Amino acid sequence: AVFQLLKEIGTTATNSNTSVFLIGGIVRDIILGRPNDDIDIVVEGDGIGFSHQLVKDYGGEVKTHEDFGTATWTHPTGLKIDITSSRLEYYDHPAALPDVEHSTLKEDLYRRDFTINAMAICLDQKKFGHLVDPFQGKTHLEEKTIKVLYNLSFIEDPTRILRAARFETRFQFSMDDHTKELALISIDKMKALSATRINHELEKLFTEDYPSQALKRLFELQFWQQFGIQGSHLTQCFTHGQRLEEFYKNKHSYKTLDQKPSWFMYFLIPFYYENDLKGAQRFALTKKDNKLLKEISDLKAQDPWKHSSDMGELHQLLKPYSAESIVFFITNELRDDERVLNYLQARENLPTYLTGEDLKNSGLKPGPLFSSVLLDLEIAVLNDQVQTKEQAFKWLH
Ligand code: ATP
Repeated sequence: AVFQLLKEIGTTATNSNTSVFLIGGIVRDIILGRPNDDIDIVVEGDGIGFSHQLVKDYGGEVKTHEDFGTATWTHPTGLKIDITSSRLEYYDHPAALPDVEHSTLKEDLYRRDFTINAMAICLDQKKFGHLVDPFQGKTHLEEKTIKVLYNLSFIEDPTRILRAARFETRFQFSMDDHTKELALISIDKMKALSATRINHELEKLFTEDYPSQALKRLFELQFWQQFGIQGSHLTQCFTHGQRLEEFYKNKHSYKTLDQKPSWFMYFLIPFYYENDLKGAQRFALTKKDNKLLKEISDLKAQDPWKHSSDMGELHQLLKPYSAESIVFFITNELRDDERVLNYLQARENLPTYLTGEDLKNSGLKPGPLFSSVLLDLEIAVLNDQVQTKEQAFKWLH
């Protein structure tokens, strides 16, 4: 479907005498043979006009952003195509630039993060499929290398260091020595970025496969150290990350847990071992992340299950905490607590022998007493003292 669509775009390009290129991550992924439906095209000229022409030719809908000269075309198949315009300012001086046809495209590519992401594929009918690769991106893909395009790249945009770590982890590539050196020189610029920008990249990084590898790599790149975390915790953090990954992969049959650990769980690991969970506060931007941070801080401070013996007692202590926070602790390097795992399982499958209605009918007044009675009942159930509804009524009276 994507190939057919690209052909269609190429036909419109040729008919309207415009040069159009596929650009960015999708080009890299086509060469790698990896799926990618994020279609970005750049039009040498008027991208918005071109988007309207596409609708005329093939239907679908277009949303334009006049200020930026960009548009999003939704093809009738549902595929979305992001369209940008590259300016034609050099066209007035053809003599000055030998490769006039692609000069603005090259400029666009030069502003990108890495050579492997700075390639384009021509879509015009005559040159359909022709690779534009002014910075040896294809060679670097073959060499499994992440390379910046210019020395000030990370200074200009330090989030690119996190992007580099992401592509390293995803493709099992590595930065070349020069790029790594530039990353180390620029890493202190990370402190000046807003939490929103850092989170945005970290969320993507820790949602990839091998998040614990990424966690470790960020130590090597001195990322955590910018936030007061010691390099000496690397091994502990890596182990914890791996155990978290494995827990979700192997033992995951918990209804109350997501399929994967949230990115913020990985993020909290270094702060946990640094005994500085407060240091992570400014990165907890959502309600969910705040809750996780608070719960993990509380659990670390109280160590509630240290002395508890039976299920009921564990419930009394752990009921207020989400399964996610509890799993964070179970996968902590120092704990592998079957008891807590069994508790989590039992808690998820806890039968409700009595409802609020039952309590009301038994003469109890609704209020705080209700939840306290229900908690006591849950404890009795978990300790096998109550196993049927009849026993629950007996227990109540
Ligand atoms: P993914 O497969 O994870 O979506 P991607 O390479 O497509 O990776 P995007 O974030 O969608 O990444 O960005 C699309 C393209 O825009 C990149 O391939 C890159 O060329 C460029 N780009 C994105 N972020 C930056 C940045 N911070 N600096 C320079 N170029 C960037």
